Amino acid sequence: MKTYKILLFDADRTLFDFNMAEYQAIRKLCGYLEIPFSDNVYNTYSTLNDALWKQFEKKEITHSFLQTNRFEQFLNKLGRQGDPEKLNSMYLSFLAEGSYLLNDAFYVCEKLSKKYDMVIITNGLIRAQTNRFNNSDIAPFFSKLYISEKIGVQKPDKKYFEYVLNDMSIHDKSSVLVIGDSLSSDILGAQNAGLDSCWFNPQNAECTLPTPPTYTISALTELLEML
Ligand SMILES: [Mg+2]
Repeated sequence: MKTYKILLFDADRTLFDFNMAEYQAIRKLCGYLEIPFSDNVYNTYSTLNDALWKQFEKKEITHSFLQTNRFEQFLNKLGRQGDPEKLNSMYLSFLAEGSYLLNDAFYVCEKLSKKYDMVIITNGLIRAQTNRFNNSDIAPFFSKLYISEKIGVQKPDKKYFEYVLNDMSIHDKSSVLVIGDSLSSDILGAQNAGLDSCWFNPQNAECTLPTPPTYTISALTELLEML
């Protein structure tokens, strides 16, 4: 094990319970639209939104297309009329209220913050991510929040990581460890940028990348033994 000094943490589904935040935001949006909410309605949204984020990671679509198109598709699937831009704006407000953490995230971050400089690296929208992060209990443990919308490029693009390293004045890449749940954005991005990576894989999924991550963990608490 190398001696790392800086930990770059992904936010959603690594430290934050994004599914819960999204679930609650869609529930509130359905309340506004007077649509009966169910797990099915949520799954409809979540599936199409995840597919759009995958396209976004591959640079096939822009942030702004993603934001309106997801609600265009959502309204279509529900057979409803509405203004997708307005719905997106309302959704982001509701989403920004959801700072739910995953199990062990607070405990692990508190411990690690005593030894490491830690920042958040997230592919997300400024409005939602800033609020969710600032309102969370783990905010004090991180020195900075890097959001793709603000930087203008997203993980897995190595330019995203170069921006972060440059902004933090990091010259020694071997002092950095990237920790995240997504193979296609966090782990591939770390590999593109020549950084070590730790894949948070709580579902014990199979690694589909040609090059495996440097480390794989299934619980955040494993970081405490590892680092
Ligand atoms: Mg994630």
